[in-house]
Amino acid sequence: MARPGYMIPELLGRLGKKPVTVLYPYEKLPTAPGLRGKIKFHTDKCIGCGMCARDCPSGACVMVEFKGEGRKKSPEFNLDRCTFCEQCAESCPKDAIELTGEYELAHFKKNELIIR
Ligand code: SF4
Ligand code: SF4
Repeated sequence: MARPGYMIPELLGRLGKKPVTVLYPYEKLPTAPGLRGKIKFHTDKCIGCGMCARDCPSGACVMVEFKGEGRKKSPEFNLDRCTFCEQCAESCPKDAIELTGEYELAHFKKNELIIR
């Protein structure tokens, strides 16, 4: 066991220095490049091929009926099941899926976690 008071020099050394922590959520640190956060779906690029849903390992991405024009099906992403593995984006032949750096995903309603 470390001797009592061994942290005192460290504490005294920090006096008068800028804090190493920030007042989250009022202050935020920049995210690391390549962070896999909230999915952004570019519906205008999608051709409804279903590759994203086929390769999703967690069942978070499913094909649903598309009510617009140009295709019959479109993916729906359920972020409460998503593991943010980025497989759907890698499988998409049209670059219609992007994982952004947004990491704050807490919501009060479950349907707010669905991306269409
Ligand atoms: S990031 Fe991974 S888990 Fe999430 S929808 Fe895409 S393939 Fe599925
Ligand atoms: S893989 Fe891409 S183009 Fe195909 S359905 Fe998914 S998002 Fe659309």
